[in-house]
Amino acid sequence: MTKLQAGYLFPEIARRRSAHMLKYPDAQVISLGIGDTTEPIPPVIASAMAKRAQGLSTFEGYSGYGAEQGEKRLRAAIASTYYDGLGIEETDIFVSDGAKCDISRLQLLFGANVTTAVQDPSYPAYVDSSVIMGQTGIFKKDIEKYGNIEYMRCTPENGFFPDLSTVKRTDVIFFCSPNNPTGAAASREQLTRLVQFAKDNGSIIVYDSAYAMYISDDSPRSIFEIPGAKEVAVETASFLKYAGFTGVRLGWTVIPKELLFSDGSPVAKDFNLIVCTGSNGASNISQAGGLACLSSEGLKAMTDVVNFYKENTQIIVDTFASLGFNAYGGLNAPYVWVRFPGKSSWDVFAEILEKTHLVTTPGSGFGPGGEGFVRVSAFGHRENVVEACKRLQQLYR
Ligand SMILES: *Cc1c(COP(=O)(O)O)cnc(C)c1O
Repeated sequence: MTKLQAGYLFPEIARRRSAHMLKYPDAQVISLGIGDTTEPIPPVIASAMAKRAQGLSTFEGYSGYGAEQGEKRLRAAIASTYYDGLGIEETDIFVSDGAKCDISRLQLLFGANVTTAVQDPSYPAYVDSSVIMGQTGIFKKDIEKYGNIEYMRCTPENGFFPDLSTVKRTDVIFFCSPNNPTGAAASREQLTRLVQFAKDNGSIIVYDSAYAMYISDDSPRSIFEIPGAKEVAVETASFLKYAGFTGVRLGWTVIPKELLFSDGSPVAKDFNLIVCTGSNGASNISQAGGLACLSSEGLKAMTDVVNFYKENTQIIVDTFASLGFNAYGGLNAPYVWVRFPGKSSWDVFAEILEKTHLVTTPGSGFGPGGEGFVRVSAFGHRENVVEACKRLQQLYR
């Protein structure tokens, strides 16, 4: 826990933001930092939740404990909407209160005695939950700082896909595509190599597809589009970044029945025990919202929300590009990854905050490979994003 606290990113940003607001009480601080959604939940989805909530006040509509794995109808709708034709069935889907929570449940499943690889940079929850589990002690180099983690460097120079020939074998590989923070989505060819790598090494891939609906090019939306992936991968996903469910909480994890431990026992069987032991399932009101998300009006409304954030992304990318920066991401994710050659991420973060009252995220908080970068999130009201870009233009013109 001590190791973890030293590097815990978002509380440190919040602390600096509060200090800044004390120093400049009249400043209009705009946050393009933490990556929380800002736009309202589409009415077709919110009203379905309201209806379920109202129903709970009647004898006919009341329900108590539901299935720990989620409501059958919702599991079936997730399977048919996102995994049609990929051989994923309703029973492979575990509905939950979010992808981050499922990442920690998967860590509980794997335990302390595994080795783990992550993209560098990547979403901090993978490394942080590994450190909490105590997965430390094999690779000497960064143990003190990061625990027993293999960092797979992802840079503009390698197209944000690791050189697998230099990656050590690990039991577990966390892979997020489109990636938070770089915004890069792996191609079919790259994912095919990743699946083969996992197969050769007997590793399990935890594929985080939280941003799949943001993909604009022909990158796969799911790891299960890759032949053979069902034998080596699980996938976590959520409604959070599509429907504004960051507060409502609803996600899912796919554990294909084809995925087996080396002793031949199904991973899904053990995951089911973890789910049933540590939780009593996602809220029934959230699940009503999830079902509405997957109706035809709900899917259209989520696409509109995603497109709104992607327009924000374009505005941010264009701003940095016009100022001569190398700004990556944006095409397939709500994040822009901006390079500041020769500078430290925290210095850039501090300068932007001090001079423009904008909160960004220092790239080094996502791993050593993020040093020299800053992540700018496209989650924001349009007028705030436009105003933020105006201030950046004044700062860097
Ligand atoms: C936001 C995010 C999640 C979502 O976590 P929830 O628990 O569903 O809010 C998962 N993975 C990544 C990479 C994210 O950025």
